[in-house]
Amino acid sequence: MILSDQSPVRGLMQHWPLTVTRIIDHAVREHGSRAVATRPVEGDVRRTSYARIGALARRIAERLVAADIRPGDRVGTLASNTDIHIALWYGIMGAGAVCHTINPRLFDEQIAYIANHAEDRILFIDTSFIPLVARLRPQLQSVEAVVVIDAEASENGFIALDDWLMGTDTKFGWVEVGEEAAAGLCYTSGTTGHPKGVLYSHRSTVLHAMMANFGDCFGLKASDVVLPVVPMYHANAWGLTFAAPMAGASLVMPGPHLDAPSLYRLMRDEGVTFSAGVPTVWLGLLNYMEAKGLSLPDLKRVAVGGSAVPRVMIEKFERDHGIRLLHLWGMTELSPLGTASAPRTEETGLADADTIRLKLKQGRVPFGVEMRIVDDAGAEMPRNGTASGNLVVRGPAVARAYFRREDERPLDGGGWFPTGDVATIDEAGFMQITDRAKDVIKSGGEWISSIDIENIAVGHPDVAEAAVIGVPHPKWDERPLLAIVPRNDKAPTADDMTRWLTGKIARWWMPDEVIVLERLPHTATGKLNKVALRAIIRDLRDSAETHQERKEP
Ligand code: AMP
Repeated sequence: MILSDQSPVRGLMQHWPLTVTRIIDHAVREHGSRAVATRPVEGDVRRTSYARIGALARRIAERLVAADIRPGDRVGTLASNTDIHIALWYGIMGAGAVCHTINPRLFDEQIAYIANHAEDRILFIDTSFIPLVARLRPQLQSVEAVVVIDAEASENGFIALDDWLMGTDTKFGWVEVGEEAAAGLCYTSGTTGHPKGVLYSHRSTVLHAMMANFGDCFGLKASDVVLPVVPMYHANAWGLTFAAPMAGASLVMPGPHLDAPSLYRLMRDEGVTFSAGVPTVWLGLLNYMEAKGLSLPDLKRVAVGGSAVPRVMIEKFERDHGIRLLHLWGMTELSPLGTASAPRTEETGLADADTIRLKLKQGRVPFGVEMRIVDDAGAEMPRNGTASGNLVVRGPAVARAYFRREDERPLDGGGWFPTGDVATIDEAGFMQITDRAKDVIKSGGEWISSIDIENIAVGHPDVAEAAVIGVPHPKWDERPLLAIVPRNDKAPTADDMTRWLTGKIARWWMPDEVIVLERLPHTATGKLNKVALRAIIRDLRDSAETHQERKEP
């Protein structure tokens, strides 16, 4: 391969490092008056602008430098989606430091672990997290100061943001770092082992935001009003708080108020045109709107990702409400966008059933992500829509290692990152997740997609939630077991579920067993925790066996 650096003739274009501060500077200069509305932790909706957010970010950067925060130092945030959280991001990155967004829904021990692992020096928190941080404070070894957003006054060792900012002004010049410098840090909350840190650079963040603004991804415009439901601590709110100011789109920040009535009211009152979040949130909102006979005429598009989109959600958004649904797949390690299910010319105007089939797929990669499926030996598998293999990706916004685990080198020889997802890719380039490598069911040497069975099972009118796991089987190695949570008192029987699934899945996929549970275990980010579910099922089976033995003479 010939590297351009080795060419005798260099391009004569300007050197313009891709640093995050350029995004907010652009928004201030070109879209300074665009509104950013926030429903804070307490109180009514307040309004600010990109101009004021940029000014606050400069004060934050000045104060961080005064506190001896140096380029590369980590500064943590434990905060919901608000205007001030956005200013903190740009202020921290503008001081050359690394903004570490911490997921407050993790267990105490995990929060302490990641804050210590990241060696966070300062923590910015919402008032609602004061009890959490007070509880954890003795364990937070590297934290020198805790600054509280929206606090009325400093107390009990917690400094109010306004007090902390005293004496700063809005003229501070950003601390210059190169585009490869670290800018953000986000730990993934996998279900096994310690969370791992994904360390974004300025360059990867800017490139990802540009990618997010491609027409077939978020495609944000200066006429959009964008509400990120996805939290800023979950893979940088999928890049929306970079992509929106880059495009000059207004932002509406919901704070911690993610229940359906609050979201509905905020979307309606602020005229939100685009929003993004995980399926659970949308199911809640759709059910609420249906029950009350409500609509959202301004809302034109919703992006749904983080887990597979159920068919009923596509039907409800698109058919009942005329809102376009964009199914996304991504990972924290991908910054996070990987694919989007946007149709091409030849795929538009398809019959309803075909459009839905297309949207149930996770979609095509934008420029900036390369993807393929490989077998267990690493050989590329065909793009025929049926061959299912390990999904690997690469690109300028894909992680090459985890923070302070650089020696572990997760990439394969070709620089591909193993996603742990199992997928097909069809001839048109549409990827479809069929399962997860850590959570697959292999029966008689063939894959069974637990996700597909779950999505169909959850469509049963009396099922609120469903999970499928593999249980050991002497002949087939593993067989699927379906666990369901009934929607009300009327729990469907195993026969009901078999009837429901018959004809919708291959016969050999039919779960051997159906178990009714009061609730299913979830991880801190709300995903099904299959490891915990397997343990629950094991216990249930063990005690059933013991019971059986006792009954036998
Ligand atoms: P996270 O890093 O927490 O965002 O989790 C990433 C993982 O979530 C992926 O590797 C997938 O297993 C899963 N995931 C994300 N989006 C989707 C989707 N649209 N359909 C199915 N699984 C998804």
